[in-house]
Amino acid sequence: MEKFDVVIVGAGSGGIGAAIAAGRLGLKVLLVEKQNFVGGNATQSGVSVWEMGVGGTGIPFEIYKKLKEIPHAVGIYSFKKHRKWQLKTGETPLHPGAEITIDKSVKYFDTLRRHGSELGIQNEVFVRKNWHGVPFEPTIFQDVVENMMLETGNITLIKNTAVIEVIKQNDEIQALKLSNNRTISADYYIDCTDNGYICQAAGCEVMYGQESKEQFDEPNAPDVVSSKLNGVSLIYSISPLKSEGVVKPPICWWADEYPPTSIVEYPNGDLNINMLPTMEGIEFSIYTNYTHAYEECKRRVLAHFQHLRYVYPPYKDYQIVWIAPALGIREGKRIVGEYILKEQDIRSGLSKQEQHDIVTIADHALDTHGKSTGRAGCAELDEPYGVPFRCLIPKGFSNLLIASRAASFSSLAASSCRLSRTMMQLGQAAGMAVYLAQKSNVPVKSIDYQSLRQLLLEQNVQLEYPILPKLKKYLDDE
Ligand SMILES: Cc1cc2nc3c(=O)[nH]c(=O)nc-3n(C[C@H](O)[C@H](O)[C@H](O)COP(=O)(O)OP(=O)(O)OC[C@H]3O[C@@H](n4cnc5c(N)ncnc54)[C@H](O)[C@@H]3O)c2cc1C
Repeated sequence: MEKFDVVIVGAGSGGIGAAIAAGRLGLKVLLVEKQNFVGGNATQSGVSVWEMGVGGTGIPFEIYKKLKEIPHAVGIYSFKKHRKWQLKTGETPLHPGAEITIDKSVKYFDTLRRHGSELGIQNEVFVRKNWHGVPFEPTIFQDVVENMMLETGNITLIKNTAVIEVIKQNDEIQALKLSNNRTISADYYIDCTDNGYICQAAGCEVMYGQESKEQFDEPNAPDVVSSKLNGVSLIYSISPLKSEGVVKPPICWWADEYPPTSIVEYPNGDLNINMLPTMEGIEFSIYTNYTHAYEECKRRVLAHFQHLRYVYPPYKDYQIVWIAPALGIREGKRIVGEYILKEQDIRSGLSKQEQHDIVTIADHALDTHGKSTGRAGCAELDEPYGVPFRCLIPKGFSNLLIASRAASFSSLAASSCRLSRTMMQLGQAAGMAVYLAQKSNVPVKSIDYQSLRQLLLEQNVQLEYPILPKLKKYLDDE
């Protein structure tokens, strides 16, 4: 049986951060990915946009700098238009949602803030000044990330291969069986799958759907538990190509009206179209067959594009050039860990959080997509908050970590912290934590949390707000 220091399962944002961090620290890493490419949601589901938000100064910034060396691979965006903003004289009254375009006057540092506006998207002046994100070309992103892995000299990447069985004894994972008939083992394992597949197969406790108020005392949780989920989107891209005649769209058959839409310009001029959402989470959860849900979302995409061209003149001369091969699923199963991140942590923020093991900071709104979630929608935050390392330690296991959106977050907390750069930073923390655990030959939960934070700081990960001057200087040098 092949033996590694650490096996990481899933090469999405979390897996990329974990593998590069562990590989650079000299660990012999195996990274297993069931798709034929790396990137997870950021590539297979078309979420090739890092939304504005604090954190994201470690491995994400390094990826950005490498992308920047390649023409049309990455840009920084600003908000140009939003349908909730007041119209100016002579302005086209119609827009389906947000129009977000590449802006050469802003830098990476400007993408590191979301919090600070009670009004959120309605506050045009605030949004124009402070909200900037990072759209990138997904295929170039894959190459850049794979090269960074190769450069460590310590990472074996196996694509097109899924983990299909977990072998465990007591509190230890002993080996994993792969779909290519190989069995592999390691001292430590990091589950970076979107649904916490390894943890689930190992028998960890799972959370799914909305928790009730009573469960975690969260002020905005519903009174009773429910299986309601954040919405699902099938993202597509359009390009300014010679187009055929505009056809009247069908009446929207799945909702009261066509959903609001985020339209982000790619560095090559194409537009990334994200219906918010394509399918309500609760509706998706009822489908027993994923392919049927995907096909229904594709029908909706085609109708939505017709609607876009018919109703909004700027999009008349566009064609669809790509539909994501996978649905963008915002919320699935989550694993109960040594600590569960809750709404209270997020709302109290770094200045009042007392945890000593914070390994990532974030400031995205508590943000549920879709009408059926029955929640407040998008609640902006006053200040950044931290995610404790213990959210990455599944309860009851000594050599297993989880670094993905399936980590130990309440449903409400997950609606805030699930963003790609935050996941990559959690992955970076997990990779470093395994290094510390192996060095001292201890279970993952026994590592020294201060040493972990120190390692992260040395690798330019932002753990403080406001940002430390030294880190700001490093970021300015892009
Ligand atoms: C529609 C949508 C829009 C979003 N918009 C934004 C945005 O604008 N900006 C932003 O920053 N974030 C956004 N997000 C959130 C963000 O994209 C995700 O939460 C984040 O990328 C998740 O990263 P991850 O590493 O947890 O999971 P993923 O990226 O999903 O990676 C998990 C990986 O595990 C692999 N895997 C699963 N099971 C197995 C197995 N058994 N064996 C091997 N491999 C396996 C999968 O193939 C996948 O590659 C959006 C999400 C969605 C769905």
